[in-house]
Amino acid sequence: MSVWRSASSVLLLSVVLASCLALGCKPGETARTNGGSTGTAGQPPFMSAVAGPPPKPADEAPPAEKTGGFDGKRAYEQVVRQLIYGPRPAGSPALVKLQDYLESELKSYGCAVETDSFSADSPAGRLPMKNILVKIPGQKPGIILLGTHYDTKRLENFVGADDAGSSTGVMLEIARLLCAQKQPGKYGAWIAFFDGEEAVNREWVDPDNRYGSREMAAKLAVDGDLAKIKAFILADIVGGRNPHFKRDGESTKWLKDLVWSVAERLGYGNVFVKEATNFGGDDHYSFTARHVPSVDIMDLDAQNDVPYWHTSEDTIDKISPKTLAIVGHTILESVKELQKK
Ligand SMILES: [Zn+2]
Repeated sequence: MSVWRSASSVLLLSVVLASCLALGCKPGETARTNGGSTGTAGQPPFMSAVAGPPPKPADEAPPAEKTGGFDGKRAYEQVVRQLIYGPRPAGSPALVKLQDYLESELKSYGCAVETDSFSADSPAGRLPMKNILVKIPGQKPGIILLGTHYDTKRLENFVGADDAGSSTGVMLEIARLLCAQKQPGKYGAWIAFFDGEEAVNREWVDPDNRYGSREMAAKLAVDGDLAKIKAFILADIVGGRNPHFKRDGESTKWLKDLVWSVAERLGYGNVFVKEATNFGGDDHYSFTARHVPSVDIMDLDAQNDVPYWHTSEDTIDKISPKTLAIVGHTILESVKELQKK
């Protein structure tokens, strides 16, 4: 089993590396993106962050049928796939390549995909950005919104395996499952891939952050769709090997209760813990500011769980397919609960 797993991981890596070269993930582009130098022998410095040993047995995902159909191994492979593009800050050529990949991947699942290209004034000047939105129709008015950001923090050699590779991998796998469903749910399910969550400057100071989610919330308000959103579930930094998701103070209480009780019922009470915390900002703030019930699933405990947060150590070896599966399973079951409301 593990031999096959290792073999398939190596194969995947070979395939993605080969396609990266074919797509032109050139060292020079990486240097422009992160302002740094290239590594030795013409290799981009981030390649060591992508290539690594397969996950340890303790981190392997359970079979998909044990996690509501969610395939943690596939979600992990989607994290690997993103890292091939190297550092991916808003406005970078690398992020444009990821956008193309996300769109084509989502369409290959049969998803209806809408994109919104816009530009935003930032400390680095006016940056082109793009939100990507999957819309799965329901039988009645009402929308259950899921979300992740897919840009990475503008730091040298930062590839963001956990931030934002993990949550984007989870949402891709959820999209694969939900877009394939034959029977429409009671409500629509929309999945947002936000650009520009990260602050351009080192520190997180409004309004230098959440460019994409603020733009989407504003446009949905104008369209009249914002009022139809019954709940918004955001995921960010959800792939660590020692995860603890605390209850965020800005998140809506009834929705936190729903998600955390689902997790407990599924046996994940040691991961979705009862302790309270305050993140101080994430994409859900763009929606809570407009009174949309929202919850953020994130592990931001840099003292203990994610010491690699916003450092060049946020690499593929930090990611547990099992954690991705726990989060994906919990979100899928929470969507089912919300569909009953
Ligand atoms: Zn971040």
